Amino acid sequence: MKKTIGIILAAGRGTRMGENKMLMRICGYTPIELCMRAMEESCVDEIIITVTDDTARHVHDLPCTKPVKTVLGGETRGESVYNALCAAQDADIAVIHDGARCLVTPDIINRSVEEAKKYGSAVASLPVSDTVRNFENITLDRDSLRIMHTPQAFQYELIRDAYEKDGMHTNTDDCGVFIQADGNPHYFESDFMNQKLTRPSDIAFFESCIHRRLGQMRVGIGEDTHRLVEGRKLILGGVEIDYRMGLLGHSDADVLCHAISDAVLGACALGDIGRHFPDTDPAYKGANSVQLLHRVMTLCRENGFCIVNVDATVTAQEPKLAPHIEKMRENLSGALGVDVSCVSVKATTPEHTGPEGNLECITVRAVATVQKIN
Ligand code: MG
Repeated sequence: MKKTIGIILAAGRGTRMGENKMLMRICGYTPIELCMRAMEESCVDEIIITVTDDTARHVHDLPCTKPVKTVLGGETRGESVYNALCAAQDADIAVIHDGARCLVTPDIINRSVEEAKKYGSAVASLPVSDTVRNFENITLDRDSLRIMHTPQAFQYELIRDAYEKDGMHTNTDDCGVFIQADGNPHYFESDFMNQKLTRPSDIAFFESCIHRRLGQMRVGIGEDTHRLVEGRKLILGGVEIDYRMGLLGHSDADVLCHAISDAVLGACALGDIGRHFPDTDPAYKGANSVQLLHRVMTLCRENGFCIVNVDATVTAQEPKLAPHIEKMRENLSGALGVDVSCVSVKATTPEHTGPEGNLECITVRAVATVQKIN
């Protein structure tokens, strides 16, 4: 069976960003991860990523349900594409995509494949709606212009032959190579959001685009109680608090981390911490719950979610928690990979009522919101 190959170009130098833009984080994900996830959810059968030494290490650590191959990029974009095309086997359609266009959706990729099957090629592009003027002060006829995006999909033999004929590798997109080899490209309408990450200031815009994707917000709730006993440390949000009693539990009994973990897992519909880290497993005896929370965040990301914010209330008669709240927020935000402004911790005293008021236990209730990234 011939396959549809998705090629992600992630071997560029990205000089305008100052550092390797393929390793920057957008809602906690690198552009490579975002593109890979879109390909994973599309009809592509196999993914080839062109990498540098830096990005190769990162790509090898990424989970993916589809086969992923890495290929070392060349000196130019064209050389990188050619290397990837040579690494493809049994390919029918090749979908070539710039890693910097990391807001690409499975839908655009699927459209490129469908149309390339029909027309031999399918290039994502947009009409020009702005007035365009060159440095000679000549206003160009915008109706005669189109802005080229990727993905650009082609029947494999056609694009491979075109690249073989193109010895120079100076074209800035695959459609240019295809035209140079006498191809007549078919264009389809791209999405305005399918922009290219170019400057550091683009990150905030890209993050807001992800946050605004409609219908993708989920809310989760978590609640946990641990018994207060003598002879145990009191650890809340990774902060060891000097107190005459501590919380009983199989792990370090950090009830705040547990409630937030359950809220995050709940928002992603991934069960609860008891399922992921059972208290019957000796591996979790005395476990550091901040580290468990970090693993919950990783699970959340592996399932395509990013954490938007968490809010928790600790119900405890004693001790006074106010002096420790900032340190807790800092620890929690580190584990969750979000800014500290997205993590709220509050404390309330139950006025000597109920088991918390009688110093029998501490209870935490938490909510988390997460966003599906594609
Ligand atoms: Mg617990």
